[in-house]
Amino acid sequence: MLAVACNLGRRAYTGCMRVSFRLLLPPLVCALAAFGQDSGALPRDPALRAAMEAARKSEPQTLELQARLCGIPAPPFHEEERGRELKRLFEQAGLRDVRVDSAGNVIGVRPGRSPRPNVVLAAHLDTVFPPETALEVVRKGGALACPGIGDDARGLAAMLAVARALNQARVETRGTITFVADTGEEGLGDLRGMKALFNETFKGQIDSFVSIDGAGYGITNVGVGSLRYRVTFKGPGGHSYGAFGMANPTHALGRAIAKIDAFKVPAQPKTTFNVGRVGGGTSVNSIAGEAWMEVDLRSAGQAALESLNRKFHAALQAAVAEENRRWNNRSPVSASAELVGKRPAGRTPSDSGIVRTAIALSLALKVEAALGDGSTDANLPMSLGIPAITIGGGGSGSGVHSAQETFDAAQSWLGVQRALLLVAALAN
Ligand SMILES: [Zn+2]
Repeated sequence: MLAVACNLGRRAYTGCMRVSFRLLLPPLVCALAAFGQDSGALPRDPALRAAMEAARKSEPQTLELQARLCGIPAPPFHEEERGRELKRLFEQAGLRDVRVDSAGNVIGVRPGRSPRPNVVLAAHLDTVFPPETALEVVRKGGALACPGIGDDARGLAAMLAVARALNQARVETRGTITFVADTGEEGLGDLRGMKALFNETFKGQIDSFVSIDGAGYGITNVGVGSLRYRVTFKGPGGHSYGAFGMANPTHALGRAIAKIDAFKVPAQPKTTFNVGRVGGGTSVNSIAGEAWMEVDLRSAGQAALESLNRKFHAALQAAVAEENRRWNNRSPVSASAELVGKRPAGRTPSDSGIVRTAIALSLALKVEAALGDGSTDANLPMSLGIPAITIGGGGSGSGVHSAQETFDAAQSWLGVQRALLLVAALAN
């Protein structure tokens, strides 16, 4: 039996946004690792062994590439420049049918003996940083500092390292591995790259999905869904003294916030709400003509998210009706809610093949195996019932989504090796 290292030490993952991990109970991890793995999860296949070695040896080049990619700006909705470089690198790595789809996703194919299963290995091009952000890489010992160095320059570099190592070692797979550098993962990007990939570019042709996002070794198998709104309350407005008696959009907004604040939400699946920004009005002595708020609704369960969404719309209607009643429907106010973000929730079961394989490989490589929930590219395939996870790209990091983001490269090749073995296993 595999000598399982069930030592679950410090957290090393610094993935994209809003990711939290729960450490598996050691007995469960041991049981999972032991299941069907009497000689360990690492392959005996000489080609795969050679690919692992190639990944380890080429880690210095992978880190160089990671630093270089971090220096190419990729602000939200403007991933083109970094995308062009990825296209060149995909071609250089020997991938086939390299192209850019309608959403700006850069695609490269590594054909197997047959088109299916088709496994996608992805990393996102975009960062949260605006175009004017200085993207200078500072090196300190084994660490690299640069905004976006982990999230997701690490994912992009690790993905390319997987493609190169597989080709260098001439690994053959039954199915196909499709490499994707995707757009729109962050914030208001709203997963537009994933939506195009699964609904247009490869509709019905993806059998499993792995995204490398950030540093560390976490495994995200629960996709937190979200709905984001900008709500605008409107009325005629008027003088605070002279027009007193009119319904007031700001007051209607206050009523709505009070109702939202009173929502009861389940702890499992974790479901949350937040009024993040408010604004509006004309002056202290005016009844507002307009007031607005931005609202974020989230849940790890799609049904709970939909239920919360219904409550939210009911709260808006009730707030407007109350405000208008209060002032006898004189110059009534109205509210309109614009959906500005939508990510579906989803889950890949912890006993599914893709999760068990990822855990078994983590244990075999003696890296931390923690399952977690988060909002990542994998949300979209999860919501479609396609086996999907997001994994860390190795090393460790800190300061994600900040100008001080840092990536520590200690033994970071282990992240490339794990991703490589995972996609090779899924493609066979
Ligand atoms: Zn990310």
